[in-house]
Amino acid sequence: MAGRLAGKVALITGATSGIGRAIAEKFAAEGAQLFITGRNEAEGNAVAKALKAVFVPGDVTAPGLADSLVAQAVATFGRLDILVNNAGIIHRGNALETSDADFARVMEVNVNAPFRFARAAIRQMVKQFEEDGRGGSIVNIASDWAVVAGLGELAYCTSKAAIVQMGKAMAADHAKQGIRVNAVCPGDVETPMLLGGILHRGDTAEEGLKKNGAAIPMGRVGQPREIAAAVAFLASDEASFITGTSLLVDGGNTAV
Ligand code: NAP
Repeated sequence: MAGRLAGKVALITGATSGIGRAIAEKFAAEGAQLFITGRNEAEGNAVAKALKAVFVPGDVTAPGLADSLVAQAVATFGRLDILVNNAGIIHRGNALETSDADFARVMEVNVNAPFRFARAAIRQMVKQFEEDGRGGSIVNIASDWAVVAGLGELAYCTSKAAIVQMGKAMAADHAKQGIRVNAVCPGDVETPMLLGGILHRGDTAEEGLKKNGAAIPMGRVGQPREIAAAVAFLASDEASFITGTSLLVDGGNTAV
């Protein structure tokens, strides 16, 4: 299928829900060959069937999973052009409400696992660059809370700032090897993660989306496809001179 991602092979983590699923849908529409992962096998299989993707279940924190999935993607499709580190979790609490275990778990899923996936991808992309001059593109899904703090989400904010800086360091280190690394920083987006927070504070979904939307200059929360569009752009060759940057997709939330 023709499209900006035609002929490209992409690995997407957390493609079983919300933003990750929308990224997989957008990438498929743009012609990419997809290798997707997540823990929920029923959802993963359903997305894979709808998009003709390959789904391999797994917890991103499992030892060896990153190396194994990159190897499987290359064995299946012959190369790896794009990695999207999308899988993520949130812990709701300020410093006093965050245990060592809470903090460590958020960092493990949101930072350590993306590091291992990116390292595995870079290894493959460097090899490709040496063979045919085509490296690859990595897009990390961070958050607008990498830039401004969200109240009562200490571990999450810390992890999202870390992944932005990790991406900049990788972008600088591997720029001459044909590898671009960027972040997309979504604001509030209507997904199970956001709805979980709304229910946690005692609002109904409808009330909560209205309240969150009212605090955003555009007057509404975002939709997953609006994040996916930014990811597809950064992953594509249209963004060939863009690396080490963060693209805020937040309806103006951090502009005021
Ligand atoms: P979501 O609907 O809760 O989806 C999270 C995804 O991450 C799921 O596919 C889940 O898959 C996967 N995941 C979580 N822990 C995992 C683990 N240990 N191993 C493997 N997969 C795991 O949330 P979302 O809103 O789409 O979030 C996607 C990304 O956007 C996250 O990085 C999040 O921090 C970021 N983000 C979201 C918002 C927002 O307002 N929604 C705002 C800013 C940033 P399984 O359940 O199948 O494991």
